[in-house]
Amino acid sequence: MSSLPITEQLERRTAEFLARVHRLFIDGEWTEAESGQILEVINPATGRVLAKVQAAGAQDIDKAVRAARHAFDEGPWPRLAPPERARLMLKLADAISGARDDIAYLETLDNGMPLSSAVRAVGLATAHLGYFAGWCGKLEGRTHSVGQPDMHVYTVKEPVGVVGAITPWNFPFVMEIDKLGQALAAGCTVVLKPAELTPLSALRLAELVREVGFPKGVINIVVGHGESAGAALVEHELVDKVSFTGSTATGKWIVGAAAGNLKRVTLELGGKSPTIIFPDAELPKAIPGAAMHVFANTGQVCVAGSRLFVHRKVFDEVVAGIAEVARTLRVAPGIDPSSQLGPLVSRGQLDRVAGYIKSGVEEGARIVQGGGRLGEEGYFVQPTVMTQARSEMRMMREEIFGPVVAAVPIDEDDLDAIARHANDTQYGLAAYIWTRDVGKVHKLAGKIRAGTIHVNGGLPLDPAVPFGGYKQSGWGRELGAAGIEAYLETKAVVVRL
Ligand code: ADP
Repeated sequence: MSSLPITEQLERRTAEFLARVHRLFIDGEWTEAESGQILEVINPATGRVLAKVQAAGAQDIDKAVRAARHAFDEGPWPRLAPPERARLMLKLADAISGARDDIAYLETLDNGMPLSSAVRAVGLATAHLGYFAGWCGKLEGRTHSVGQPDMHVYTVKEPVGVVGAITPWNFPFVMEIDKLGQALAAGCTVVLKPAELTPLSALRLAELVREVGFPKGVINIVVGHGESAGAALVEHELVDKVSFTGSTATGKWIVGAAAGNLKRVTLELGGKSPTIIFPDAELPKAIPGAAMHVFANTGQVCVAGSRLFVHRKVFDEVVAGIAEVARTLRVAPGIDPSSQLGPLVSRGQLDRVAGYIKSGVEEGARIVQGGGRLGEEGYFVQPTVMTQARSEMRMMREEIFGPVVAAVPIDEDDLDAIARHANDTQYGLAAYIWTRDVGKVHKLAGKIRAGTIHVNGGLPLDPAVPFGGYKQSGWGRELGAAGIEAYLETKAVVVRL
């Protein structure tokens, strides 16, 4: 595991960054929040205040939206030659690369993730931004054969306009860069509101945006609470599209609140993804794989494989193996080089995860491993394995967003019956299948209603692969061609010759 040496210089730069009271980044300038609100950022490994940042109210959001609107309607960005747009995006990617250690360190202090994961995440974000920059010159329309002669009909792709991007706290930096990268490539201008629990890497990003020299108002970054700043952004009449990643409950609220001007909405929401392990699976890979698909990032992953269906022939072996992974994973502050799992992000999240474990036990599930809090300082929990889970239990129906997996034995070789288990959820984000039988793989992949089916391991988030959910896991797709498309309008030009 590649961790980062925390040098004296890195410590010093970070301490200086944390000591400043950060303002809002609007129209290319650091701007005093009119709301007068200050938000305390908590280090989840200690529970202590890490930094203070200004938080936007509705008036501040209005200012940011108007800056983005002006930049879109009057500024150069949407009209810039695609290679020029790409050049600035690549310059930002380079700047992020150069600041990798600082961003990763901030991300770890703020979110709690192991420093090695934060370094990887910043690397991913840089690669994603480069990928999206490549789309700038590839947003092509078509010519259309129509039923009348003497007609020339073509379509062009145009940017959707001002984008309100609202991001979560589980992978703050990558999520911010993904939304930004797609919007920028399409020629949109953006107001980005990072999650109030983890605003620091976004504020560092704003510094880089300023250094790189994007035209004013193209990228605005405003920290603020969901119910005030987030809501004001969603309701704003001058915003053309909201791109949201977060909980299903908030996603549903956004759908209603966006109706005022019928802005476009894409939603990446929760999940309750199944992992299915067949007896012919390569267990030495399936066991650690299934374990990390739910424990990684302390379970705070929308695609976590939290419902584990294992064929009865290998059930005991798989459960014992995953329990062993849970027992031996090193849970420690992210800045500890040996840390494999950091704390949960907040006190609220700690209470929520504990509540789900308790409800599971009350409804008859059994804890095989873990189940408790670790230490008194910070928000650490034990990776937890439960059995005797039934589909009607709360912990099997609702997203826990913690390192908790519930295992259920399956007897069937009938793929329809297995798919019924997998699909017995309001969500449809991902599914994990472990088997060596290629026929079974493709048949079952066709039966499961989920946005991504991972077979025998899968891939870390790749910008070329569309990502999103069926059912209540969301609307639309991010990443890949489908992701860019969601930031574009299609215009047909119909010419009588
Ligand atoms: P969680 O409950 O896991 O914190 P949320 O969906 O509440 O997830 O948060 C994800 C993002 O949504 C955050 O940036 C948060 O500020 C924002 N948010 C929360 N409530 C609203 C809202 N009513 N309108 C807009 N954004 C919101």
